[in-house]
Amino acid sequence: MATVGGVKTSSVRLSGLGTTIFAEMSALALRTGAVNLGQGFPDTDGPVEVVEAAVTALRDGRNQYAPGSGVPELRRAIAAHQHRFYGLAVDPDVEVAVSTGATEAIATALLGLVDPGDEVVVLEPYYDSYVAMIQMAGGVRRPVTLRAPDFRLPIDELWAAVSPRTTAILLNSPHNPTGSVLRREELEAIAAVAIEHDLVVISDEVYEHLTFDGLPHIPIATLPGMAERTLTISSSGKTFSLTGWKIGWATGSEPLIRALVGVKQFLTYTSGSPLQPAIAHALDVGDDYFTGFTARLQAQRDQLCDGLAAVGFGVHVPEGTYFATTDIRPLGFEDGVEFCRLLPERAGVVAIPHQVFHDDVDAGRPLVRWAFCKRPEVIAEALDRLRVLA
Ligand code: PMP
Ligand code: GLN
Repeated sequence: MATVGGVKTSSVRLSGLGTTIFAEMSALALRTGAVNLGQGFPDTDGPVEVVEAAVTALRDGRNQYAPGSGVPELRRAIAAHQHRFYGLAVDPDVEVAVSTGATEAIATALLGLVDPGDEVVVLEPYYDSYVAMIQMAGGVRRPVTLRAPDFRLPIDELWAAVSPRTTAILLNSPHNPTGSVLRREELEAIAAVAIEHDLVVISDEVYEHLTFDGLPHIPIATLPGMAERTLTISSSGKTFSLTGWKIGWATGSEPLIRALVGVKQFLTYTSGSPLQPAIAHALDVGDDYFTGFTARLQAQRDQLCDGLAAVGFGVHVPEGTYFATTDIRPLGFEDGVEFCRLLPERAGVVAIPHQVFHDDVDAGRPLVRWAFCKRPEVIAEALDRLRVLA
């Protein structure tokens, strides 16, 4: 809680949360003119026909409140997407909810499922909104750390993290910031824990179409016994390079979706109407779009990783996502937060320190994340600037 002149200016719910690292680092990039490889947003627009579909929807009067769980054609397109890519049978009427980005789906899932004192097992390093929303729900996070160099799931630590107070496991694969993609054996271990302890799984899969080198993305909801206990979350932002549209969704069993929509109705009521039919259109595009998108990002990953290695960083080549991780110690640095605060001035580039996504600060201290969802010429310019560190 905070007060100014005796007036309460923030609740206990907000204590310690500060400003998100993404906003801080993007503001720093703007202020200093640095190349922004920090916040994960593409610097090219999404498909032109999707933008045109939004323009049509705006002109066609799709401008009043959408139904709380989303416009029917988008719910149908999301269900069709889950079936087309993963063979999942999802009922578009009661097992899909459209959200204001994956961020709102995560928030409403946690507020709708977690009671004060409940524990949530979460992969660390964690996406920052997880920590904030577990705290706002009154829950307690129990991190399980993915450690360098390979960032695999420590299955023993997962079992050990569960207690009688645990209600949920919050997953993210492909994983931001490590770039790790959970393998079938890891997902089976998580499923075994969830089933043994009667847990809900909230699975953030926003990078589902960004796995590289032919590695499959496997939604945990496809494993036996998991569909009924899993909320799967995704977003059009990453897949269609439209991060500013903030159209996300959750799919899952009717009671879980009902909990999420129960919160959403009082948080935002509904999400932006005219963008929803456009995303329905986007989800229907042919396979070529998805394979082309993955191939383009994989080439940008390789460009960035090769360049960072040439500068002298220790590079952890990611299996998925928008992000590569480096160890800064080979260049004589120790602390990622200090490194990232100085980097704009020293080299004219912005990156994100892993440390801010950790309770186990030491595990993240020497690690720094770089976004490669940028045009090749922008990545080249950043690498050129980084050569001063060599
Ligand atoms: N989850 C993860 C892992 C992310 O990296 C992001 C960032 N975009 C989000 C959720 C939020 O997605 P959205 O922008 O759709 O709210
Ligand atoms: N998901 C993006 C990232 O990890 C940022 C989104 C945000 O700023 N909330 O960089």
